[in-house]
Amino acid sequence: MRRTAIHAITFVAHCESGLHIGGSQDELVIGGADSPVIKSPDTGRPYVPGSSLKGKMRAELEKHLGRFGRDGGRDGDKPCGCARDGCPVCRVFGAHMNTRSTLGPSRIIVRDGRLRGDKWRIENKTENVIDRRTGAAQHPRSNERVVEGTEFDMQIVLQVFDIDESFEYVNAQKQARRGADALQAVVADGLRFVQMTGLGGGTSRGSGAITFRDCRMDGEPWKHWPA
Ligand SMILES: [Zn+2]
Repeated sequence: MRRTAIHAITFVAHCESGLHIGGSQDELVIGGADSPVIKSPDTGRPYVPGSSLKGKMRAELEKHLGRFGRDGGRDGDKPCGCARDGCPVCRVFGAHMNTRSTLGPSRIIVRDGRLRGDKWRIENKTENVIDRRTGAAQHPRSNERVVEGTEFDMQIVLQVFDIDESFEYVNAQKQARRGADALQAVVADGLRFVQMTGLGGGTSRGSGAITFRDCRMDGEPWKHWPA
């Protein structure tokens, strides 16, 4: 197996609503929000973990394709680990928990998204749990969100191997792609599904709406993402 190309796909993630990507418990501050956003320990600035974006892209593609679990079956709640030659998820994202995969390494490396500019703001959004009998609000919880309009610089590195030459993928617009083009189409579909469904926590309650702008590959406008 030989790597035949390596590309940098860059874009701006623009928050169309508040965005909540939760930090870990050890970042909790007394008197702070119940659920803080993840921040860089060095700078205290919020960022978008590459693993969050990659995981959401993967989960959305799995739903779109109906591929789950060890056998790539249509039902289940585990990531696809089928490692089949034709599986777009296992090829691009890696076969989950499958040490016998011959598909090679994950084709994409999703970098942490860095906040654009020096100005940023965090808001506290309070959510209530409603008592079903009385209608009274109980246990209000406060969630930190980076505010609407915040932007992050994102990068996905895409590696192409010689074994990808025969890989075929029909994208969400029913266009047949092959080889390196098919890998790019899988990435583009994943990003489109995240745009449609949102990123981070609380997407069903108004958080995490996001658009991806100025998508480029190796500095040139990316043909898989028409502006
Ligand atoms: Zn699979």
